[in-house]
This record gives sequence, C-alpha cells and structure tokens, in this order.
Amino acid sequence: MRELVVLGTASQVPTRTRNHNGYLLLWDGEGLLLDPGEGTQRQMIHAGVSATQVHRIGLTHVHGDHCYGLPGVLSRMALDGVAHPVHLHYPASGEDVVRALVAVASPGVDLRLHPHGGPGEVAPGLEVRPLLHRVETYGYRLVEPDGRTMVPERLAAAGVRGPDVGRLARDGRLGGVRLEDVSVPRRGQRFAFVMDTAPCPGAEELAEGADLLVAESTFADEDAEPAREYRHLTAGQAGALAAAGGARRLLLTHFSSRYTDLEPLREQARATAGGAVVTVARDLDRVGLPPRCRPA
Ligand SMILES: [Zn+2]
Repeated sequence: MRELVVLGTASQVPTRTRNHNGYLLLWDGEGLLLDPGEGTQRQMIHAGVSATQVHRIGLTHVHGDHCYGLPGVLSRMALDGVAHPVHLHYPASGEDVVRALVAVASPGVDLRLHPHGGPGEVAPGLEVRPLLHRVETYGYRLVEPDGRTMVPERLAAAGVRGPDVGRLARDGRLGGVRLEDVSVPRRGQRFAFVMDTAPCPGAEELAEGADLLVAESTFADEDAEPAREYRHLTAGQAGALAAAGGARRLLLTHFSSRYTDLEPLREQARATAGGAVVTVARDLDRVGLPPRCRPA
C-alpha cells in the first residue's frame, strides 16, 4: 500500500481547522514521517496511525512548524517500545536544533542521525535536493526503480505459466523466452515533497515526473509580495512547478492562517498546473498514489 496520511496543513500559525505540518508516507510497509510539527503525536491518533509505523523521519528544515513535534513522537515511540531502528534525516546546519529536540525526548529509541549537506541519495530510493528558504532547506523525493509489467497474452503465447512466470521475471530468461519479449517497461512511482521555498532548480528537480507532488502553497497569488519576502511559493507558483515537472497530481499544503477558504488557492494552482490534478490537502486526509501510467 502506498498512501500519504496528512497530519497537518498549517504553516507558521495553526488554525482551528489546521494543525501544524506533518505527513506520514506509507510505502510498502515502511513509514516515512515528514516534517512533524507541533501536535503531530495527537494528529496521528486522529488519523489512525501509530508511532510503530514510523521507520524514517525526514525534516526539510528546522523551523518550528516542521520539527517541534519530534520530541513528542520520539517519546511516544519509546513508550510504545518501538524496537526497530529509526532513521532521522535533516540539513546538517540544523544539527544543534535537532540534537536539542532529541535530547528532551524520552530515551529508548534506536535513533540514527543522518545529516545531509548537499543533494543526493540519503537512503535507498530517497533523495534530497536543496531548496531556497531563509535557512538551509532540502526537499525529498522517493523514487521506485523502473521495472517491467508482464503481458498475459504474450506469456500465454510463449507457453509460460505458473511458477515459471516468477522464474522468468527473476532470471530475465526462461529457455528461449526473454523477459523483454513478454513484458513492457513500467516506470517506477515517484513521490515528491517540496516544502518551504522560493521557486528554484532544486524544487524543479524534485517535481520532475512525480506521480504525487506535495508542495507548499503558503500564499495566494495576490500575496506574492510576502511570498517573495519570506521565500515561499504562491499557489500559482506551486501549479507552475507541477506543470514544469509533468507531475500527475499536485497536493497543496502549508497554508498561511490568513486564508479560511482555500478554494481560491486551488483555482490559482489549477490555472498554471497544466495536466496535473490539483487537490487541497486537509488535515487527516489520506491520499493514495495514482495508479501507474499504462506504458505507451
Ligand atoms: Zn513552514
């Protein structure tokens, strides 16, 4: 199962309906907790997910709305007796803040710290790219390797059936039948997470080919001035990012508390998003990854 559990959608100031940021990406039995802001522990209860489902935590940067939930979540993991290692990724320059947050959490979690100071792969399939904010910030991207999809008619024509299908997939060849003769290429799924940033090349790289792009949309287009000043995206810029990358689905989040009605932001993003389906994230939403594209 692959889905994103939205734990919070507020930027700097939470509102009565929007908790601070927080997202749990469930991906084939692994849980990646992204930017746990204040209140994440309780939002997880509301969302029906548990601390034991978290295997990895990624912080984009160390502003409070993206990390103040860390001690609570770690303490809850300790309380629940989480036995598996938990990997924590964050920008290297946030080391002091991260260590302070970890220091006040209850001990007992096998926590492994992984600071990063440049673009690259930080775990299998998990990549970071620098963003452009007021402190060192990185976005994340999870990339499934490309694979192949079997075509049942071709398998039947080649007389391959039962356990032989698995053997052929594993070995690439079965007698005179080659894998490429009975299958078609399948692009791996991609999830991208672009938080606090002004438009920048790193955001564009993350958005490239994303099946699901989660992008901050702190401001509406008419508030482009504060967006520029504080280095955030407007809804229209988030849409343009999705269009430039050919993203299939754009999920807007990290909203300023000044907006009660988010529909105008969705409209603004939709106007620039090209073919991407645009959705406004709401607290406790569960957003599935769209089914893989049929190969051409
Ligand atoms: Zn923020």
